[in-house]
Amino acid sequence: MFNMNLKALKPQDVKNKKIIVRVDYNVPVKDGVIQDTRRIDISLETINFLLKHESKQIILMSHLGRPKTADKYEDTIKQNKELSLKVVIPVLEKEIKQTVEFYQSTEIGEEKIILLENLRFWEGEKKDDKHLAKNLAKLADIYINDAFSTSHRAHASVSAISHLLPAYAGFSLRHEIEMLSKLTKDPQKPFVMIIGGAKISDKVSAIENLAKIADTVLVGGGVANNFLKAEGFNIAKSYLQDVPADMKKQGQNFVEFANKLLDENQQEHTLLDNFIPLPKIIYPIDVIAGNSMDDEKGKEVNLLDCIEGSCYTNDDMFLDIGPRTIKLFSKVIENAKTIFWNGPMGVFETKTFSRGTKKIAHAVALSSGESILGGGDTISAIKKFKFDNEDFTYISTSGGASLEFLSGKELPGLTNLVEK
Ligand code: AMP
Repeated sequence: MFNMNLKALKPQDVKNKKIIVRVDYNVPVKDGVIQDTRRIDISLETINFLLKHESKQIILMSHLGRPKTADKYEDTIKQNKELSLKVVIPVLEKEIKQTVEFYQSTEIGEEKIILLENLRFWEGEKKDDKHLAKNLAKLADIYINDAFSTSHRAHASVSAISHLLPAYAGFSLRHEIEMLSKLTKDPQKPFVMIIGGAKISDKVSAIENLAKIADTVLVGGGVANNFLKAEGFNIAKSYLQDVPADMKKQGQNFVEFANKLLDENQQEHTLLDNFIPLPKIIYPIDVIAGNSMDDEKGKEVNLLDCIEGSCYTNDDMFLDIGPRTIKLFSKVIENAKTIFWNGPMGVFETKTFSRGTKKIAHAVALSSGESILGGGDTISAIKKFKFDNEDFTYISTSGGASLEFLSGKELPGLTNLVEK
């Protein structure tokens, strides 16, 4: 999967053609106002290419949020007004300096640029329905997927349609894959992977795969609790996702996963400051604990002195990494040539537990290595702490898709974009 040769767009492929483009306009909207236009911005390169090379018609399509569908399409539209993609039109028109027509059905006109209504208003979208895909495919001569962030979903506008028309990769999708491939294809060493957040279930496969390539894996956030528990620490009331509800039957247990990963990577092969040997997987040596996420004080717990739970109670939760861990992680990050970071180091939304994430962001921003960041919460965190996008090499707009890509899985939306 990583050595993908994606079908690139050439001017002669698009000239005088009708083109249907799957974009990702799943943007955050509050009171009818788009809060972050980045997903629209990254679609412009493909749209401008099509305009420049005289495509006959450009039909843009995307999903927005999670609408509930009613029995009748008209009712779905009425009941999900706040999820209409119409909200995107003014931003798009301003950027491309052209009129964009909006259609709520596949009965469209001849206008140059068209945006279709939220694809998830059609029940068939999430079911990868062939009928819906056919109706969409009928509108155009070629299909472009420029929505990497939904490419891990077998949905009609991403997967089924790609079998029905000549399919190409858009520019933002190619760029995303190019950046993520830097991590898997011969990354500059030392390569440091930083994993945090709450849910380990989304991340296990990527951790497993990248741990083989990375020199060091720094684990923080709620995910670290799986590793601490595996090592025999009492994690009291800390958040722990040990088994995801839908996988229970398959017997997946993430504490066992952590244990296995630690076992497999026991060798100390990295030297800090050229003489201190470090294990490959590093979990927190101290944490900030609190009795709730709103705890205004929090207390430092040095885990190595506290194995019996003597300095915290069974009602405490580990909600951030502690100062010694911040120091250790920052030192490892300082020496890195490649960094991949997904997931905050603590409950960064609360001041008391935000220091770990802020300091790690600072260390990544200062590092001279290439840094690739992903995941919605990591991005919210760096925004909250007022880092500039330029402080990092690349900020991915996709969470789930990038993790699935990094786990080495074949993504349904990419299968037909590969040069055969
Ligand atoms: P995820 O979607 O899995 O990346 O999780 C992101 C969320 O993890 C954020 O909302 C954080 O507040 C939360 N989080 C980070 N560290 C912890 C922790 N130690 N305990 C509980 N939640 C955490």
